Amino acid sequence: MENLTPMMQQYMKVKEQNKDCILFFRLGDFYEMFFEDAITASRELEIALTKRDCGNNEKCPMCGIPYHVADTYISKLVEKGYKVAICEQLEDPKEAKGIVKRGIIDKVTPGTIINKDVPDSSDFNYLMAIYFDENKVTLAYSDILDGDILFTTVRYSNLKELEKKIENEIIKISPSEIIYNKNTFFAQNFLNNLAELNNITLTELANISKENHIKILKEKEINSDIKDLTEYMAIGFLLDYIYTYRHENLTHIKNAYYFEIEKYLNIDSHTIVNLEIHKNLSTGSKKGSLYSILNKTSTSMGGRLLHSFLERPLMDKKEIIKRQEIINSFYNNRVLQNNISNLLKEIYDLERLIGKLSFGRANARDLESLKISIEKLPEIKRVILDSDSEVLKLLVENLDTLEDIYKLIDQSIVEDPPVLITEGNIIKVGFDKYLDEIRDNRVKGKQRLVEYEKELKDETGIKNIKIVYNKKLGYFLDVTKSNLKFVPEYFERKQTLTNSERFTTSELKEIENMILSSDSEIVNLEYEIFNRIRIKILDCINRIKKTSKIISEIDVFNSLAMVAYENKYVRPTLNNIGLIQISGGRHPIVENSIGLEKFINNDTTIGLGYNDIQILTGPNMSGKSTYLRQIAIIVIMAQIGSFVPADSANIGIVDKIFTRIGASDNLYKGESTFMVEMNEVSNIIKNATKDSLLILDEVGRGTSTFDGLSIAWAVLEYISKKIKAKTLFATHYHELTELEEKMDNIINLKVKIQESKDGIVFLRKIVEGKSDRSYGIEVAKIAGLPIELINRAKRILSNIERERKNNPDVLEETLFEMNYEDEKESIYEGFIDNIRDIDVNMLTPMQALTKLDEIIRDANDL
Ligand code: ADP
Repeated sequence: MENLTPMMQQYMKVKEQNKDCILFFRLGDFYEMFFEDAITASRELEIALTKRDCGNNEKCPMCGIPYHVADTYISKLVEKGYKVAICEQLEDPKEAKGIVKRGIIDKVTPGTIINKDVPDSSDFNYLMAIYFDENKVTLAYSDILDGDILFTTVRYSNLKELEKKIENEIIKISPSEIIYNKNTFFAQNFLNNLAELNNITLTELANISKENHIKILKEKEINSDIKDLTEYMAIGFLLDYIYTYRHENLTHIKNAYYFEIEKYLNIDSHTIVNLEIHKNLSTGSKKGSLYSILNKTSTSMGGRLLHSFLERPLMDKKEIIKRQEIINSFYNNRVLQNNISNLLKEIYDLERLIGKLSFGRANARDLESLKISIEKLPEIKRVILDSDSEVLKLLVENLDTLEDIYKLIDQSIVEDPPVLITEGNIIKVGFDKYLDEIRDNRVKGKQRLVEYEKELKDETGIKNIKIVYNKKLGYFLDVTKSNLKFVPEYFERKQTLTNSERFTTSELKEIENMILSSDSEIVNLEYEIFNRIRIKILDCINRIKKTSKIISEIDVFNSLAMVAYENKYVRPTLNNIGLIQISGGRHPIVENSIGLEKFINNDTTIGLGYNDIQILTGPNMSGKSTYLRQIAIIVIMAQIGSFVPADSANIGIVDKIFTRIGASDNLYKGESTFMVEMNEVSNIIKNATKDSLLILDEVGRGTSTFDGLSIAWAVLEYISKKIKAKTLFATHYHELTELEEKMDNIINLKVKIQESKDGIVFLRKIVEGKSDRSYGIEVAKIAGLPIELINRAKRILSNIERERKNNPDVLEETLFEMNYEDEKESIYEGFIDNIRDIDVNMLTPMQALTKLDEIIRDANDL
């Protein structure tokens, strides 16, 4: 360090305190990066890596970008998940004695970036704070441009349960950045893995005192119904992080709303991924997801609200029916649908516009966008009030059409204003008297210039004498060489060029003064007026927010009605007795990709007691997964209030949906696919209730046949006897179909196929009954495996089947019916034996404590 140049020593000091950021270090007109930062930034930004003498006889890596284009580069780095710290010169280098003072003025991180060009702003950009306490955790999150904070508190008795709950919420909310408090009781690895896998930037923060957290909430005037200390802590962290480099009070971040996870349909994180709710499974993009099918919204606000609907479907029948009623009213009025959709297309993102305004990032164009949007509000209100639907009238009854704000902007801001707000030309004539006066002065000055030029021409006889302006010299008289002899004595020489000379006079200086001083005064005053307008609008922020909420709702409901109309969805009836009855049900994503008319629909009845658990057998590729998923998706759609892809549907509201589909790639945890599968099954078994819907597609496939079969059998029995959740279970283990006989709530379903001598044809129809074969070899044949291989496989299969026929009892003995009471007894005995086996003398105090912890956990599991 001592060998470094003084400036590099300064750099090292700043870097030391901002290790987790790429440091943009201001040097003259550039931001420079050094060492590792330079290597990373040059790679990520594709800019040249150079070297600089840092004073220690070694040249260190360096790269730089001009300060005026920094925003673009910062956004690029932040979008890739980096955090950027901006270190500015805090004094004018010309006046600095010794080394220029420098300090961090801002940090830009994935969750706090606000000038990001979001290509599709129907995306949220969430910053999430997690505060861990010993027995509870609060999650608080916000899209800081939208401004609302949402929070919830999770209580837990063991870490696995907590991990699962947090994982579910994180996958659902999908934040770009998470901050969390340093703590000793939570498995850091879990959070690190989760963040890495989902491209989330993670920062561990040192704890600050509880008093500070409470203070910051008071200072920033946050309204909330906080009940718990951990809630103060989490929201305090969030605010502290947002405000670190901001001193102004952000008027749009004022409300924190509590939400109860249990109040909403609980969709497990795997299920969100597997059912392709937000993203297509194979491409990872929104296209081909349920969200994209349902999204015909015209505004980004509507898009975001639809996203939230899908994150948290409802469970309260009344609330669902309320949504249905509104959608139904739009559904029945095709003309209204189109009118509203077209009107809404002209509305900009009101929520984000006021966010920008509050952050001081909005320009006059943003105000113009606000005005154009507000202009449409009265018409939207009128069109809806003119419809004959009482429900819709109620929706817009309280829509504040913000006429005063429209008027304010209309009177003050010019049409088509420039991007910059610091160079004038944004305020209309007639809005501010004083501004008009100084503008007049400028005009007068300019007129005087014209006259003066004419006077000089007459006085000197120089016909081509010209008054010219440039930034360096200001106003001057330009006289060509041949006319120099006519120049009067009192002209002062300013500059000599090859073909002309430049002069000034005291009169010209006076006129120049008049023009230029009014110029700068105008620019300053316009900026000041702009800020006054900004503050006036921010005073109405709550009204604008309420209006934008209603607009987003109109947008989502109208969109759901249009989708329902165009895709032939129906309004489902709802029940609270757990019955799901669908006739002619379809999978909305698959039917969209293969074409509406090609999709074969299917009927479903589940939840009548005798058919609560349904075992579905059928060949690969016959449509089992599609059928299973379509039921879960229809239920989710129904619970957000949407119409559903079916001829008719009666949906029993469910509390949780779990799916176990295929092998998910959790290898990062060092777990085998089978382990992942078992973890998922274990999570389902522990958390499902009789009101849940379970979609189990192939349980027990990742191990040997008899292992797998036994597990699948036991899982089904357990669900049948203990959980009694509505379950759809697709399997290739045909042995499982025997459970229909043994249990009073299990039935068999199969996919119908047509066999011919050339192979099989999939009919995609689900009917009662069981498949007797898997038709794996036929499917392999369709896939184009060599015919000799297919024939060989057939021979092997018939040998195995013959073998089995000769010894049928093996299976029957293995799959005896389980008696849970006996089972409990034996677990209990095992537990006692384990305690008896402990040799206290052989244990260190630490081992003894660990053992005690194990015993308590086992006891809890009994
Ligand atoms: P399985 O789970 O039995 O292997 P899938 O459900 O994955 O079969 O279906 C395989 C393919 O068959 C799907 O990708 C889809 O293209 C088509 N398919 C499935 N169900 C239907 C249906 N009801 N109507 C038309 N095509 C279907």
